[in-house]
Amino acid sequence: MSGLSLVPEAQRALYLGGRWREASGGRRFDVLDPADGSVLTTVADASAADANAALDAAVAAQADWARTAPRARGEILRRAFELVAERADDLAELMSLEMGKTIAEARGEINYGNEFFRWFSEEAVRIHGRWMQDPAGATRLLTVRKPVGPCLFITPWNFPLAMGTRKIAPAIAAGCTMVVKPASQTPLTMLALAGILAEAGLPDGVLNVVPSTDSGAVSETLQADPRLRKVSFTGSTAVGRLLVRQSADGLQRLSMELGGNAPFLVFDDADLDAAVEGAMVAKMRNMGEACTAANRFLVAEGVAEEFARRLAERMAGLRLGRGQDDGVDVGPLIDEKAVGAVAGLVSDAVADGARLLTGGSAPDGPGYFYSPTVLLDVPAFSAINTEEIFGPVAPITTFATEAKVVARANGTEYGLASYVFTRDLARTIRLAEALEFGMVGVNTGLISNAAAPFGGMKSSGFGREGGFEGIEEYLETTYVAIPGS
Ligand code: NAP
Repeated sequence: MSGLSLVPEAQRALYLGGRWREASGGRRFDVLDPADGSVLTTVADASAADANAALDAAVAAQADWARTAPRARGEILRRAFELVAERADDLAELMSLEMGKTIAEARGEINYGNEFFRWFSEEAVRIHGRWMQDPAGATRLLTVRKPVGPCLFITPWNFPLAMGTRKIAPAIAAGCTMVVKPASQTPLTMLALAGILAEAGLPDGVLNVVPSTDSGAVSETLQADPRLRKVSFTGSTAVGRLLVRQSADGLQRLSMELGGNAPFLVFDDADLDAAVEGAMVAKMRNMGEACTAANRFLVAEGVAEEFARRLAERMAGLRLGRGQDDGVDVGPLIDEKAVGAVAGLVSDAVADGARLLTGGSAPDGPGYFYSPTVLLDVPAFSAINTEEIFGPVAPITTFATEAKVVARANGTEYGLASYVFTRDLARTIRLAEALEFGMVGVNTGLISNAAAPFGGMKSSGFGREGGFEGIEEYLETTYVAIPGS
C-alpha cells in the first residue's frame, strides 16, 4: 500500500456513524497536487444537511462513549498511535501529495501529530476531580469531571494530520464525540486517519468526518444546533472571529488556534551558529507555512550583517522541487494565491527600501513554488513585518536595545510563538516574562511538543492544545455539596 491507496475510492467520502457514504446530491470536489496543479482525485462534498447527519451520529454516540471506561478510551488511542507509526511512510507520501511538503517534513509532522495519540492515551486515565472540606468545616465539596459533549473541529491545510490529532486525541480521552471538517485542499490525510481510528476500535459515531467546500454553511448550521457543545478551530484569525460570533447563541465552549506573527530575536551575545540553525527551522519548517513560523527577524545591530550573510547562504543552498522527490528541501506552496501573496509582500518590502540578499522570485514552470528569500534592512512599517507571510521569506530588521526590541516584538495584534537567542540567563527570564506570546523558544527554533501547552493570546486566540492543559478543553466540572456529619 502506498500514498493514495491508503484512502481507497470508497473512503474518499463522508464518514458518518461508522459508514462511508456519498454526499447528498452526489456532489464531489477536486483535490489538487500543488507541485503541478493537476487533479489528484475527487472527494465527496458535504452539504449542511450532511453535516447535520454527522452531528446526529455524534449525538447518538455521546452517552455510551462518555460511559466507556477511561482505560478502554486510552487503549484505542494507543492502538491508533501504533497503527499510524506502522503506516508512517504511506501517510507521509499521501500528505506530501495533497499538501506539497517534502517527505521528510511529512514524516516530521506524522511523528509530532502521532505523539498526541500517545500522550492522551496516557492522560485518559488521569482525569480526576477533588474532595475538600469547606472553610467553615460543615460541608464536603466534591468536583466531578465530565466530557463537554459533541464537538465540531475545523482544521487547516498546512498540517493536515497534526492539527487534527491535537483535537481528536484529547476529545477521545475525555469521552467526547465529534464532527471533523478538514480543509478542503487537504482532506485525504484526515480520511486516512478516520480509517485508522476505526481499525483501532473507535466505536461508530464517535468520530465523523465531513469534507466540504461549503465550510460556511457547515459551521453556521452546526453552531445553530443546541446539541453542539464545543468548537475547536485552527486557522485564520478572520475565520476564528466569525466562529466566535456564531457561537454566541449556543454559548459553545471554544478553543481558537489562530494566526501568528512570530518575532525571532537575536542578541549580540547569542551563539550565531545556533541562531542560524534555529532560524532555518523556525522559518523553513513546512516551507514557512506555519502559524509558528518566524515572521520578523529582529537582530542586534552588531551581529545583523553576519547573521544575514550566513542565513542567506543557507537559504540559497536549499533545493526546490516536488515534495516526493529525493534531495528536495523545499516543496511548493499550497496554491497560486499563496505565491502571489508572498511575492507581493517581498516586492513591497524592496520598494520600502529592503535589500534582497537571496531569492525574491517564483521560478518558471508548473507548480506553486517560491524561492527561499532573505531581506535585510526591512523597515518596521513594511507590510511583511505586520502580516503573516506564510512562505519561505526571512525579513531582517536591526535593533539597538533590549527595551526597544521588546516593544517592537510585542507591537503586533498577534501573540502565538516567539523566539529568543541569547546566552544571558537574566535576560532570558526578563524576556520570558515580558514577551506577550503564548510560547517562547529560547535558543531553539522548534517549540511544538505534544507534552507542552500550545496556544496563543490576543488575536492568536485562546485555549491550549497538548500538555496537561489540553484535556481541560474537553471537560466540564460539576461541583457537589454534601453536608458532613
Ligand atoms: P482558514 O482559511 O481560516 O481555513 C481553516 C479552516 O477553516 C479550513 O478548514 C477552512 O475550510 C475553514 N473555513 C473557512 N471559512 C470557514 C467558515 N466560514 N466557517 C467554517 N470553517 C471555515 O485558514 P488557512 O488559510 O487554511 O490556514 C492558515 C491559517 O491558519 C494561518 O493564519 C495560520 O497561522 C493558522 N494556523 C494556526 C495554527 C495555530 O495552532 N494557532 C496552526 C496552524 C495554522 P476550507 O478549506 O474549505 O476553506
